[in-house]
Amino acid sequence: MITRLSHLFLRTLRDDPADAEVPSHKLLVRAGYVRRIAPGVYSWLPLGLKVLRKIEDVVREEMNGIGAQEISLPALLPRDPYETTNRWTEYGDALFRLQDRKGADYLLGPTHEELFALTVKGEYNSYKDLPVALYQIQTKYRDEERPRAGILRGREFIMKDSYSFDLDEDGLKASYNAHREAYQRIFDRLGVEYVIVAATSGAMGGSASEEFLADSPVGEDTYVICRESGYAANVEAVITPAPEAQPIEGRPEAVVHDTPHTPTIATLVEWANAAGIAEQYGRPVTAADTLKNVMVKLRHPDGKTEIVGIGIPGDREVDDKRLGASIEPAEVELLTEADFAANPFLVKGYIGPKALQENGIRYLVDPRVVTGTSWITGADSEGKHVVGLLAGRDFTPDGTIEAAEVRDGDPSPDGRGTLVSARGIEIGHIFQLGYKYTDAFEVDVLGENGKPVRLIMGSYGVGISRMVAVIAEQQHDEKGLRWPAEIAPFDVHVVIANKDEAARAGAEDVVSGLHARGLDVLFDDRTASPGVKFKDAELLGMPWILVIGRGWAEGKVELRNRFTGEAEEIPADSAVETVIAKIRG
Ligand code: ATP
Ligand code: MG
Repeated sequence: MITRLSHLFLRTLRDDPADAEVPSHKLLVRAGYVRRIAPGVYSWLPLGLKVLRKIEDVVREEMNGIGAQEISLPALLPRDPYETTNRWTEYGDALFRLQDRKGADYLLGPTHEELFALTVKGEYNSYKDLPVALYQIQTKYRDEERPRAGILRGREFIMKDSYSFDLDEDGLKASYNAHREAYQRIFDRLGVEYVIVAATSGAMGGSASEEFLADSPVGEDTYVICRESGYAANVEAVITPAPEAQPIEGRPEAVVHDTPHTPTIATLVEWANAAGIAEQYGRPVTAADTLKNVMVKLRHPDGKTEIVGIGIPGDREVDDKRLGASIEPAEVELLTEADFAANPFLVKGYIGPKALQENGIRYLVDPRVVTGTSWITGADSEGKHVVGLLAGRDFTPDGTIEAAEVRDGDPSPDGRGTLVSARGIEIGHIFQLGYKYTDAFEVDVLGENGKPVRLIMGSYGVGISRMVAVIAEQQHDEKGLRWPAEIAPFDVHVVIANKDEAARAGAEDVVSGLHARGLDVLFDDRTASPGVKFKDAELLGMPWILVIGRGWAEGKVELRNRFTGEAEEIPADSAVETVIAKIRG
């Protein structure tokens, strides 16, 4: 194809849009790839649509490559299936709900597990039909609380979602691994820098869920990575390595001290160092020597509430996300004044393990609190703390919990270095769902032995429209977009920077030559000034820019590499061959 800029439906903007904060958003709007219609709702203009379609093609090829089959379900869905799985309610405010003229409830699909489970149930009834993997590339709707950064977090967006159905867990694992590898190929082909992180701590069994996160300072996901070993995980999934247990034999008794006005860790540490505890320790006391007991109220799925004590080293805070992931499906609530009044043994600022255990409160500790570790902690009465309280002797926790924050420099769970935090954008998610949806809809087939077999399901998503922004985010420079060849809207951008008739005619010939050799050419044939044209070429971001300018009279044209910024003069008469050779590598 030859696309003339004089004809292309495109208007580039000199200024950044007022609502744009991140580079990809600014550039995609300025370069005329997308236009905003409403918060989180965007139109795709010709150049943007070309990139989007190319990303779809890569994803489609790799999905077909693992034997997944493309179908397309509606985005407008009846309430019923989502009622069956309770997601009509559970999805909360993020679900777009609407009614038809008869008052029947509908929703705009945020993800399609229900419908795929029902679709397979509708078509298949024998083990011989399995396994099967189906996918679609389709528009999704989520009323995101904070639509952000243009197409990065939309309320209408395009996702590739696939679903695998297998006869048993081994089959699910194989389907999952096939998807995992296909995703690696997709993101490698798209030239994205990414990591794969364990998304959950394994409460659902090992690598039940992993996320693909693109490296980006503007990412909303925080993860940790061990640069030495390559281990990476969501903060929620980090497992704290437990230190070795220490002997209890011969350790000094725990001693209760009067510690007036020490309700905080800082005041407690100050007291300990002033009161001669540092001499006992042979070093200054730090917050890490104290055990902080945080009280939370869990609301279990059955509606019952339970007060639980969480013991973590005093130098760390509770990380709400980690706590939330650890106690799922229960939810965390704060204790009210009424809770404290009803449990007078909870002395604020001085809560210790003893009172919790004596009063039947479940006490969960950080994995660092192993047998034989010694702590300075609350003694359960106003103005009193206990020093030398030994885990495994003076108190026995009811279990461990991953609730403490993860910090840069913490040891990696694989024992091969230390963790640092990084930010990323979720581009893909693979998930061993298990039986949640097939149980809900009783998706069974007749097994080999004539008995029904419940199918086991996986679900896998790639953010297609988000990928456009992610690649723009990772690849741009101060001048504009910079597309990798695989997804650039055009192979080459030819600019006439010469008013001379002969040069114009020559440019037409070069463009025809490139087209004849199968290249998709963007041709800037406008009468605008060379300066404007160069700026636009840099903004639009095709990987190669061929300039037909002043050198034409001497038989020379200039080939610019948008990635490296390098420019070289090449002979005009072999320009087509040179460009082809460069592009086809
Ligand atoms: P996030 O944590 O970013 O909200 P999610 O975990 O809700 O994403 P999934 O339900 O796993 O997302 O959806 C699969 C993929 O769809 C994500 O990995 C992401 O690439 C993409 N995606 C999800 N929400 C959006 C959105 N609002 N706009 C654009 N892409 C999205
Ligand atoms: Mg996800």
